[in-house]
Amino acid sequence: MSSTISFSERTEYYLTLEAKYGAHNYHPLPVVLNRGEGVFVWDIDGNRYFDFLSGYSAVNQGHCHPRIIAALIEQAQRLTLTSRAFHNNQLGEYEAFITQYFGYDKVLPINTGAEAVETAIKLCRRWGYSVKHIAEGKAKIIVCENNFHGRTTTLVSFSTDPSARKQFGPFTPGFEVIPYNDLNALSIALQDKDVAGFLVEPIQGEAGVVVPDQGFLKKAFEYCEMANVLFMADEVQTGLCRTGKMLACDHENVRPDILILGKALSGGTIPISAVLADDEIMLTIKAGEHGSTYGGNPLACRVAIESLNVLKDENLAAKAEEMGNLLRSELTKIHSPFLAKVRGMGLLNAIVIRHHDSEAAWELCLRLKENGLLAKPTHGDKIRLAPPLVIDRDQVLECADIIRKSLSVLE
Ligand code: PLP
Repeated sequence: MSSTISFSERTEYYLTLEAKYGAHNYHPLPVVLNRGEGVFVWDIDGNRYFDFLSGYSAVNQGHCHPRIIAALIEQAQRLTLTSRAFHNNQLGEYEAFITQYFGYDKVLPINTGAEAVETAIKLCRRWGYSVKHIAEGKAKIIVCENNFHGRTTTLVSFSTDPSARKQFGPFTPGFEVIPYNDLNALSIALQDKDVAGFLVEPIQGEAGVVVPDQGFLKKAFEYCEMANVLFMADEVQTGLCRTGKMLACDHENVRPDILILGKALSGGTIPISAVLADDEIMLTIKAGEHGSTYGGNPLACRVAIESLNVLKDENLAAKAEEMGNLLRSELTKIHSPFLAKVRGMGLLNAIVIRHHDSEAAWELCLRLKENGLLAKPTHGDKIRLAPPLVIDRDQVLECADIIRKSLSVLE
């Protein structure tokens, strides 16, 4: 396996700057990008790449979508931030829009995915005490092994990834971890009367695009309902057309009690996230009890409306479904001893690499880059393949060919 890779002097310059002055909390591919449009990004030397990460599924609508950018610029020239100390003329209209769009009574607007999950946890606990009457301090939330919900101290408290937790304790109590996709474990955990909620990714993205058995979400939702426990879907990565439906839960006609959204809510422009729920849950939090300076800012509200409109106007759910089927069928035609598995739903996919060298997936990503496609390993041997949903048929075929050709680097 060859790992020789040369950078241009300009690339080297930017890599050195980041290494010298930035925290070393990421391990990016050695490519320095300065432009994006649709499914493509360009590096500083003018090389063009297919973006198969899409900002971890934030860029579902494609890079620099003209309608989203126009809304952003127009609003940025008028009013960007009022804080929630005052009203603004965008927030109410956005709240009306997004609650109708997803069919919930209320929304709590916030910024990042992690903050939205934190918000859901607080809402769930508050509901557990004030509606379900769990004794103060006793509320529990069931979560799944190999989850990824973000990087805050509470969220890593229930991560099962040692690298997310090591030397970050002490941790927040009140979480019970069960295996993913295990209805039996869920039904046992739900017997505890102090359980307020079940927090789940409909497909585990960071874990390597792990798709649960058909029927798991539906049954899990029913079990929660019977146990008077809130079903909380973290659709930060799976939502907003990525898996071939507006929400991944839509594949099983599940309407979560608490819906968590982020990433593509801004089409990859600014951090916008949202938590949706009905009044019985949402109104348990009162004025002054939760919030964020930027949450619900007028710029975010305008951008989110446009980002959601683009998803529907451009039929991106149907496109994700069709192009995802095509991508997986092309990838399964590849005969390589190193390609152990192709899996996914819509345009949230992964390949699993089988190789004696633990760096194989990284090496393959370097070769993919040389061949004009950017992707990143997750958890060592898995490579997520999640292009913007505006990718077309010819482009999918071209990309499958790049992947086929690049696999030879592992020989
Ligand atoms: N939840 C899920 C399912 C995610 O995939 C992510 C990020 O990858 C998050 C939450 C955290 O989002 P953010 O990085 O915006 O905090």
